[in-house]
Amino acid sequence: MSISDSLIQHADRLCRNEYGNSVFIRGLLEISNYCVMNCKYCGLRRDNFRLKRYRMTFNEVITAVERGWQRGIRSFVLQGGEDPELPPKALANLADAIRKKVPGNYALTFSFGTMAKDDYAQLKAAGVDRYLIRFETSDPDLHQQLRGTTLAKRLTAIEAVKSLGFEAGSGFMTGLPGYSEEQLYRDIELARSLDLDMAGVGPFIPHPQTPLAKEPGSPLALAVQAVALLRLALPKANIPATTAAGSLAPDGREQMLAAGANVLMPNIGPVDYKKLYELYPGKICLDEDGLTCLGCLAIRVKTVGKELSMERGDSHNLSLNKGKTA
Ligand code: SAH
Ligand code: SF4
Repeated sequence: MSISDSLIQHADRLCRNEYGNSVFIRGLLEISNYCVMNCKYCGLRRDNFRLKRYRMTFNEVITAVERGWQRGIRSFVLQGGEDPELPPKALANLADAIRKKVPGNYALTFSFGTMAKDDYAQLKAAGVDRYLIRFETSDPDLHQQLRGTTLAKRLTAIEAVKSLGFEAGSGFMTGLPGYSEEQLYRDIELARSLDLDMAGVGPFIPHPQTPLAKEPGSPLALAVQAVALLRLALPKANIPATTAAGSLAPDGREQMLAAGANVLMPNIGPVDYKKLYELYPGKICLDEDGLTCLGCLAIRVKTVGKELSMERGDSHNLSLNKGKTA
């Protein structure tokens, strides 16, 4: 057996020890593809003038959450670009409106990029429990070059999220330009040192309307290995099998679920918007209603001996509690 196979098996064991065979479902809503940032890897970047932009109305978002709730989903993730029409105040209003219109015990996760600590505090006060913000790469020079801003700022944002008592999620992409094994270990080490509650890794997939169009994309196997290493580094974290992995191979997400991942994030938003949230090309399940996807996902997870769970799926990592007592 190769080192890589035994690594994956070990990570799988650690994951099952912690979370059993459960795969937590997060209902994902990609609520806006407007973005003022210009990240060189991303199809939503400001300078992609070919992309038709959209923004869901509050009512559309609330209706989608309500449908998800009725279907039994107890964890929702709202994500978007850094949209000037959705400043922190508006996002807090949205969280508040969701909590009022759809009462119940479910987790609300937001992922809208870098903000000031006070802004994150507003979101927390409005009922957001978790925040996702990947550091993307732990290489400060590459970070600056690809994102036009510093890694330090991103890390300050992650620390702010943690100190406010959110469940904190972060992660990175494998296979960015100049990627090496050494870089993978540094990315894992940063994720470990941040003591993340949720950690996600996706393979970089070049988008034709970006400056990285001609770069090679990440091999899927590298992203699967990264998931296994993340599980070793953060045994108690929730780790998603990412959609980007599913876009590289039909069983990409199953490979991650067999290598230490325990979360799936089907998009439950309106089908017409899904195509327009084109971070990278080749995204899967674009014509399906996310709630219909649940049947398909249930079959897929069985192939790796797992089963879907619609529960909140709180992280077993302790930093949440540490945040509360800080
Ligand atoms: N605007 C927010 C959230 C949306 S982007 C933010 O940037 O934090 C969500 C994630 O998509 C990013 O964190 C990045 O890791 C991933 N992503 C963007 N472009 C990608 C690409 N070309 N290939 C793979 N993943 C990509
Ligand atoms: Fe905007 Fe996020 Fe894409 Fe960067 S990765 S351009 S912040 S949506």
